Parts: sequence; C-alpha cells; structure tokens
Amino acid sequence: MTIRYISTRDTQPVPDILAFDEVLLKGLAPDGGLYAPISIPRLPTAIERSRLSAAEQPSQHHSTRRGPPSTSQQTHQPHRTAFTYPELATQIIAAYTTNIIPDEHLKSMVFDAYSSFRHPNICPLVAIAENHYLLELFHGPTFAFKDVGLQLVARLFDYELNRRNSRVMIIGATSGDTGSAAMRAVAGLPRVEIVMLYPSERISEIQRRQMTTLTASNVHAIAIDGTFDDCQDLVKAMFADEHFRAELQLAAVNSINWARIVAQIVYYVWSYYQLGENQAVTFCVPTGNFGNILAGHYARRMGLNINRLLSASNANDILSRFFANGSLSAREVVATLSPSMDIQISSNLERLLFEIFDFDGNATSALINEFRSTGRASLTPKQHDQLRTGFQGDRLTDQETLEVMAGVHADTGLTIDPHTAVAVGVAQKQQRIHPDELIITLATAHPAKFPDAVASATGKTPNMPAPLAALEHKKERRVSLPKDLAAVQSFVRSVRNS
Ligand SMILES: *Cc1c(COP(=O)(O)O)cnc(C)c1O
Repeated sequence: MTIRYISTRDTQPVPDILAFDEVLLKGLAPDGGLYAPISIPRLPTAIERSRLSAAEQPSQHHSTRRGPPSTSQQTHQPHRTAFTYPELATQIIAAYTTNIIPDEHLKSMVFDAYSSFRHPNICPLVAIAENHYLLELFHGPTFAFKDVGLQLVARLFDYELNRRNSRVMIIGATSGDTGSAAMRAVAGLPRVEIVMLYPSERISEIQRRQMTTLTASNVHAIAIDGTFDDCQDLVKAMFADEHFRAELQLAAVNSINWARIVAQIVYYVWSYYQLGENQAVTFCVPTGNFGNILAGHYARRMGLNINRLLSASNANDILSRFFANGSLSAREVVATLSPSMDIQISSNLERLLFEIFDFDGNATSALINEFRSTGRASLTPKQHDQLRTGFQGDRLTDQETLEVMAGVHADTGLTIDPHTAVAVGVAQKQQRIHPDELIITLATAHPAKFPDAVASATGKTPNMPAPLAALEHKKERRVSLPKDLAAVQSFVRSVRNS
C-alpha cells in the first residue's frame, strides 16, 4: 500500500494528496501546514513474527533484568534478535516508501547512513535502574540524536535530486544540534548547498566548532548577531519570499521534515525488541519541537506495544501544562541547562492535533491561528481525554536536572547530558508512583557536548571523545552577518553562484 500525505492546514474540499518523495523535498506545505500521513502502515509481519519467536525463547536475562546494572556503563545484553538495526530500519521505512523508492535503493541508503555510527548496535540500550533503561541515540557523527534522522535524510535528498536532475539550497536556523547534524550529513553532496544561521555567542563553543570546522565547500554556517528567534525569522522571511524561494530552490531539513520522523520510528521498535520482553513499555522523551516523541506515537499506531509516552520538559513547560489541562498557553522562553528544549511553540504538535481533530484542516488551522494570535487555545474536554490517553508530561527545573545527573552518576557511574537528565528525572518521578512500569528513557545527546553542566553536577569534566577533542585544533571558517534579510539573501545567492 502506498502511504499518502496531506497538509494539516488543507481547507480545500478535495485536499492535495502527495507522495513520500514530494513531502521529503517540500518540507513545509505552501499553506503553512505540515504533511501528515492519511494512513499508517502496520509493523511489517516479518518483524512481528520474529519478535514473538524471540519472546518465546527462554531468556537468560529475565531473572537479572530487574536488578540495577552490576557494573557501570554496562550495555544491556541485547536479546537475540533476528535483525540488525539497519535491517530493521529498512523494513520499517520501506512501509512508508513502497512504490516510491525501490527497496534495494532504500536498503543501500539505510546501510550507508548507519555505517557512520560508532556503536555496533547503532542505538544501544543501557540499564540504569530496576525497570529503567536508557536508549542511547547519540552515537552518530555529531553526538546528538539528530544524526539518526538526518544521516538518512541527506541520502534520500541526494537520491531524489539525482533522479530529478535538480538541486536545492537548504536553509535553516539552529540553536545548536540540528545545524551540525544537517551540515555534516550533506557535506560534499554535489546537488545540495546548505546555509545554517546560528545566534552569534549563544551556542556552545563545541556546537559552533562542529559547524565551522567542516571543510566541504557546500556547507556554510553564519553567525547572526541576534537570538535564535531572529535567525528563525530570517529563515521564515526567505521562505515567504516566493521569488527568492523559487529562484534558489529552497528546501528545509528542520524537525518538521517527515522523513526525519520516519527514521526515528525505528529506534522505538528496535529498543522494544532489544529488551526482549513481552509487556508494554513506556517511553520517556526529552521534548523540544515534539518530533522525537511523535515518532513514538507513530510506532504505537503501527502496532508497537507502548503503554505511555511521557513528554519531559525543562522550565519551558507549555507541553506538560497542555497534557495536564488541555490548554496551550505561551510564556516567554527562558534559557536553561538543556537549550535544545528551550522552545515554546513545538511545531510537530500540529500533526498530533490534526489527528485529534479527525484530519480536519479547518479545525487545525483555526486552533493554530488562535494560538498564534492570542497565545492561547484550548481543546474540548473530549479532545483532551483523547490526548491524555496517549500522552502525559512533566517538567524538571535546572536544579532538579543537576541533581538527577549527580544521582545517576553516583548510582551507576554513568554520565548523562542535561537533556537526557530531564527525561530521566521525569521517569523517576513516575516510577515512584508506578514501580512496576517498564520505562525506556531516550538519551538524546552525548554528555561531552555539555561539559559545563556535567562538571557542575558531578564535579568531573566528562571525557572528550577523540572527534570532539580534535575540534579545538581545527581551523574555523567563521562568517558573521547582521540581522538583516537583504544581507543574508545576498550571501545565499553568492553561495549558489560560486
Ligand atoms: C533536538 C533535541 C531535543 C528535542 O527533540 P525534539 O524532536 O525537538 O522534541 C532534545 N535533546 C537534544 C539533545 C536535542 O538535540
């Protein structure tokens, strides 16, 4: 079955229906909406079958699973699985690309994408306490979970652009991790140029160096003298300029890109399967733009045995308030120790709202417009109930986050980054209420990316992996521009023509 997509804000009597390749390259719909699938495939039967047969095998880990790890940094002994990560990924992603991308092409892109990961399990599972596991998503080239989606998306772009004999200019704004992951993923691709805007002086030195030390001639990081919001406004203005957009063939790879979400569904299934249990699992996800946790929602809709999806926030807690009371109400963004989650408007939430509104583009755009213009919007009690059955949220302060980092370090010897710690803390609170609940918490960044927070929590500076340590000695290419649309546009043009 071919999966088709419509915009969450489509208000036409007969909506525009798109296929995977179009959704991939378009990113955002012309009406400002996000593309959402009209139907969801089931998990491929080969996966279901092998999962069942794995669960029937007597498990030597079962008796020890409930104890805390005996040595520090011990990878959970994975259940004997019938598939490797790239094999599983190929099967799951193929369910969304059937009839659009031939399976053998998809397979080679997937295998190539995950060959850049440093861990043999790609996304390994680590026990941190009784009934509590970490799914480490940071073993890709830039040490944050964005690599899982973007390494594949870059290859899909390359494939489609070759097939169409065309090229694109990717532009985006980054508060840190997306920029380096996207630039690294497309570096050297002949049909792609990328320009990423970042707020000068407001990202960490490691994050900046990850972008400015890349040597490929098609990747460009620009420091804007302003905030992340200023960068995002410049990007939006370039997309809104239709002439400019068409002239340069602008494309986006930010977290609303559907292909990123599809790639992220895989590790939910993978981790469930690694655990080798036959009971429902709760996932706890450090949430910013809602892309990561939404992939968990799709995994559940594909048939994965998920109990609850817990959305973990820092002080920017609009989502946990929304799940609790059914109302969205915006507040000022505050800076925290987990900067990739310092977001008030989580764009991917729109895909979930669209589902709750029974795929009604009118209702979805009405709610979004109300929220954009007044800073508030509410669900009906019935809609709120529907939301609450699948999602719950909670928040952690910076102080609590540091305590969790210190606690995990003391108990297990494991160092975790502040984003991961927010989710670990939320999971721990839940397990005090429901001690039998099996929870997998998603670990989204390597602790060495946030050395200051780690040092203040644990008293120890994290070990720098060699690729991060090497950044300090590499030459930086630093370009700065004022917060001025004309200046940025002329830079983008000059890049295209060079
Ligand atoms: C991007 C990011 C997040 C938030 O993920 P979303 O998909 O935007 O919800 C959390 N942690 C880290 C380290 C990130 O880079």
